[in-house]
Amino acid sequence: MAKRIEPLTLGPAKRGAGKYDDLATLVRQQAAAQGVVVIVIGGPAGSGFSVQAEPALLPHLVGLLRTMADAVEADLARPETAWTCPRCGVTSHHPVDAQQRYCANCRRFADEAPLP
Ligand SMILES: [Zn+2]
Repeated sequence: MAKRIEPLTLGPAKRGAGKYDDLATLVRQQAAAQGVVVIVIGGPAGSGFSVQAEPALLPHLVGLLRTMADAVEADLARPETAWTCPRCGVTSHHPVDAQQRYCANCRRFADEAPLP
């Protein structure tokens, strides 16, 4: 027999309680998951989140969210690697291209003299 998983609404989302519960249910069912966290940013109904999980999973949720926050923070701290060639306008996302200001399209370094 399938256990019924009650949606939990935590923290600031209590003000909009329930607005993403249906979406969380859909995601949980599609993923055949024991728990889900759905975070919506700037949706038509506004921002919010819904958590659906067995109570036993909640302690793991705290660690998971910290890991997510750390990963986002690390991405923000990483230097931008995109580099756009001033000669042809092609953008490279290869970190070495940006570092050396090399354009694979022109096959030249940005500081090299233009081809004759
Ligand atoms: Zn170029």
